[in-house]
Amino acid sequence: MARLTLRNIKKSFKSTQVLHGIDLDIHDREFVVFVGPSGCGKSTLLRLIAGLDPITDGEFDLNGERMNEVAPSRRGIAMVFQSYALYPHMDVYENMAFGARLMGLDKPEVERRISEAARMLQLEPLLKRRPRELSGGQRQRVAIGRALVRKPQVFLLDEPLSNLDAALRSEVRLEIARLHREIGGTMIYVTHDQVEAMTLADRIVVMNHGRIEQVGSPRELYETPANTFVAGFIGAPR
Ligand code: ADP
Ligand code: MG
Repeated sequence: MARLTLRNIKKSFKSTQVLHGIDLDIHDREFVVFVGPSGCGKSTLLRLIAGLDPITDGEFDLNGERMNEVAPSRRGIAMVFQSYALYPHMDVYENMAFGARLMGLDKPEVERRISEAARMLQLEPLLKRRPRELSGGQRQRVAIGRALVRKPQVFLLDEPLSNLDAALRSEVRLEIARLHREIGGTMIYVTHDQVEAMTLADRIVVMNHGRIEQVGSPRELYETPANTFVAGFIGAPR
């Protein structure tokens, strides 16, 4: 189970406030997609949830447990970044094993998890390759696989398809949708792309200037946008 509660989350960098009080409940196994213009605070919010940056004010609970001060490695949350950030000197297997070993898993368990992730993401033929021998889509699948072997309760994906060309984007997008069905984790996903948001999301969160403009199913946002900003972002005719 992975249920997230964000209560009045604020974030400032020095004197600049970037998040102005984010309130949101995310349900177990839900696929939530954040959209909004560049600079509105989407990545910052994901980094707070992952624990990569401290929350300035407000409360973040995971399954009823306060997470504000919990170390990233103890949250059961894995993040996949826009740039794949694979280790260039390690092959695909080693890249996927690295995080799992840090968790203290023994070798047979690491092997089991990697073969499961490799099967799900069709990485089996690539396990011995270095990142530079992979296409962009393959690299991003490895990055997702690396998160997967940690068996997180929550996946954070920050524009995971933005460095891919159109054909690969739809391929990896389908892969992510399938993964969500298979493993049933809670997904929090940031994108610029309306098609990704509309096809992947149970609910879409529209952000602007560090605030939430509207939360709803793709259909709700499309049919009853709260304002012209949401309508413009979701693309409903007005
Ligand atoms: P998005 O992902 O929606 O494009 P970000 O969350 O990356 O937006 O950034 C939101 C705002 O916070 C931007 O104005 C950005 O410049 C600022 N910001 C992000 N990280 C830092 C940081 N480490 N120090 C100072 N400002 C930051
Ligand atoms: Mg961003």
